[in-house]
Amino acid sequence: MKYLRYSYNNKIHYGLLEGNNVYELSGEIFTSLQKTGQVVPFSEVRLLSPCTPSKIVCIGVNYRDHAEECNIPLPKSPVVFLKPSSSVIGHLDDIIYPEMSKRIDYEAELGVVIKQKAKNVPVGNAMDYVLGFTCANDVTARDLQPADGQWTISKSFDTFMPLGPIITDEVDITNLKIQSRLNGKVMQNSNTGNLIFKVDFLISYLSGIMTLYPGDVIITGTPMGIAPMNPGDVIEIEIENIGVLKNTVKKA
Ligand code: MG
Repeated sequence: MKYLRYSYNNKIHYGLLEGNNVYELSGEIFTSLQKTGQVVPFSEVRLLSPCTPSKIVCIGVNYRDHAEECNIPLPKSPVVFLKPSSSVIGHLDDIIYPEMSKRIDYEAELGVVIKQKAKNVPVGNAMDYVLGFTCANDVTARDLQPADGQWTISKSFDTFMPLGPIITDEVDITNLKIQSRLNGKVMQNSNTGNLIFKVDFLISYLSGIMTLYPGDVIITGTPMGIAPMNPGDVIEIEIENIGVLKNTVKKA
């Protein structure tokens, strides 16, 4: 299924995308999937972030080529950090360039949306806890990253977590092309098959540390090809069969 969150006639709904139509749902996408009977054309809704996570759990250095470009040794266990819920924006929302930074980068990532409360989940059952997958852009104030002993400041500015456009469970994440395009130019071009730590392992590992709640998102790391963005730039993150997440950078 293809899940989305949208605004229509100034009201916010969850819905299912079927063909070119959006079927409004009552309640949430995690528990109750009741269609209300309301149907609107996809072209008439304004997409919002496809979920509202209580936290975004992020994996750093999860593609070999990106570790090499950053001169970081390959990790023996996942590098984990968090982004706050206040950083989340949706498709076509603006990324605001913060005054504190002189360099902000895009990072194309596969986002995993959690379906049900997960604690101490075995690897073998991990995918039962997944609602679906979305595109993510782990926007990073690169110049502030080394200055901070850890990465919270560089990763946490408002608007630094674009997610979307939708969530889908209709993909095989072991082999999906993942790409970023800056003003139309391909900057990152890889495949989710290149992840060092795989999604089922990550869910199991993370759920042994913190409870994952419905709507929480795990972003799984970025491939090589990171570079800065400037005000006015358009950044697109495309993952095969999931969609294109597009945002514009604006000056604060
Ligand atoms: Mg990242």
